[in-house]
Amino acid sequence: MEHNSSNFIRTIIKEDLESGKRDHVVTRFPPEPNGYLHIGHAKSIVINFGLADDFKGKTHLRFDDTNPLKEDQEYVDAIKEDVQWLGYEWEELRFASDYFEEMYDRAVLLIKKGKAYVDDLTADQIREYRGTLTEPGKESPYRNRAAEENLDLFERMRKGEFANGEKVLRAKIDMASPNINLRDPVLYRVSHASHHNTGDKWCIYPMYAFAHPLEDAIEGVTHSLCTTEFEDQRPLYNWVVEQCEMKHQPQQIEFGRLNLSNTVMSKRKLKQLVDEGIVDGWDDPRLPTISGLRRKGYTPAAIREFVKETGVSKGSAVVDEAMLEHFAREDLKLTAPRTMGILKPLKIVITNYPEGQVEWLDAEINPENPEMGMRKIPFSREIYVEQEDFMENPPKKYFRLFPGNEVRLKHAYFIKCEEVIKDDNGEVMELRCTYDPETKSGTGFTGRKVKGTIHWVDAKHALPAEFRLYEPLISDTEEEADETAGKTFLDYVNQNSLEIVQGFIEPNMENIEPHDKFQFFRHGYFNVDPKHTTKEKPVFNRIVSLKSSFKLK
Ligand code: ATP
Ligand code: MG
Repeated sequence: MEHNSSNFIRTIIKEDLESGKRDHVVTRFPPEPNGYLHIGHAKSIVINFGLADDFKGKTHLRFDDTNPLKEDQEYVDAIKEDVQWLGYEWEELRFASDYFEEMYDRAVLLIKKGKAYVDDLTADQIREYRGTLTEPGKESPYRNRAAEENLDLFERMRKGEFANGEKVLRAKIDMASPNINLRDPVLYRVSHASHHNTGDKWCIYPMYAFAHPLEDAIEGVTHSLCTTEFEDQRPLYNWVVEQCEMKHQPQQIEFGRLNLSNTVMSKRKLKQLVDEGIVDGWDDPRLPTISGLRRKGYTPAAIREFVKETGVSKGSAVVDEAMLEHFAREDLKLTAPRTMGILKPLKIVITNYPEGQVEWLDAEINPENPEMGMRKIPFSREIYVEQEDFMENPPKKYFRLFPGNEVRLKHAYFIKCEEVIKDDNGEVMELRCTYDPETKSGTGFTGRKVKGTIHWVDAKHALPAEFRLYEPLISDTEEEADETAGKTFLDYVNQNSLEIVQGFIEPNMENIEPHDKFQFFRHGYFNVDPKHTTKEKPVFNRIVSLKSSFKLK
């Protein structure tokens, strides 16, 4: 696997190993199985697996499954698939829910030490008592319950004697702390819900802030890498590890989130798009999910390279989608076969070409990679070109087909537009052209020049195909979308984000398989869609168009 370039986390790990603070490295990637992974998660995956790999350490895939209502086996399976597809192997597969018993015991220990208490305040009251950034919080009237009583109540919480929300277990830290996270955070809540892993065994579940440090400590994680929104929770993280008397002390280090322009990243919003049928499942090619990017045609290498290019720092930035696209082009340039496809067909009859004759023309599969060899393209009397390559009344500097003009057919001959055939409504149905046999491609013809080269497919031999063209899903970035004015992100969904067109491809593409990738002349890179492709008709997702204004710094 490629190595990560230098960054501040790498420096910390290096120093820890050199100073003897650590003699090995264990990291973890800890997704909650409440949705599919997205490109932001890829960043965390690349950082965690990459760093451990660089220091000959190990990485756990740990499902942070402490919230039964939102979690599901479907997500567990999808996450495993995506991590592997990205090219990473976890050393151990763990579930936070496997530690519920130990977490419960640690909570009991806190109660015995007078460091936790059962509170009867409602969620609203707890919020109210918490205070603000400028005002200290207020102590709960239940804060000074005796340890005995707390132990009894906590046990009865576990036994199911209380309804959801009736009681919680809270840490007893400091209601006046300037860090709000330390104002007696909730450690356990009652939730009568079935869990995907533990079934109905539990009706109390640990909160993230309590569970996460314990999970890391139990697993011997040395460097617990998370995003910067958890920075203020670090003192609580350390408090939990210390007060619960965990043998192993993990170190939390925060890095900046990765955000992408013109899309949504939060799993809540992604789920809403899926549930409301606005997109075609979690793997819709318009989504920034790993499975969506895969279906669109991104390769693991392109995603990894992109993520690495975004770097590791404390700051979180919105990265332009164009940068991700840059890596797709770089990745496919040398490997994707070139081919011709007509997305919006216009028929041409070449009137002076002998009826019944077929020529098989030679073309390189990839001029940038000659080792890929040659392909054969049929040419005969009737062909399809793009509708947009003809204009009856062209503006200046339009060098493609118009009455009387001559163009080059890629890999074939010069043709000249002689006649325009229209239907009763005046719509152009067909063009009549002539060709010049002298101008055959590859024969070194220099007699005259033409300014336009267009692509085409032979009408009789061409195979039907569907093309799906994408635009950004969100017409503004998530942050910029003005949700204060009673709008939601759904108001910013781009209604033109998917265009489906029916066209034709070269006949040598008969045996293509889902996820095969091609560069269609002038149209860009495409991936064979695994979901909608049938034996009769392949469906192509456009990954990226050919040109971009994006330049890597
Ligand atoms: P979301 O907010 O999209 O629901 P999350 O942070 O709740 O995401 P988790 O399943 O908890 O999702 O995330 C697993 C790991 O991936 C965490 O360590 C988290 O910090 C990291 N992660 C999630 N989103 C990003 C992102 N945009 N950039 C970098 N790391 C991320
Ligand atoms: Mg989360």
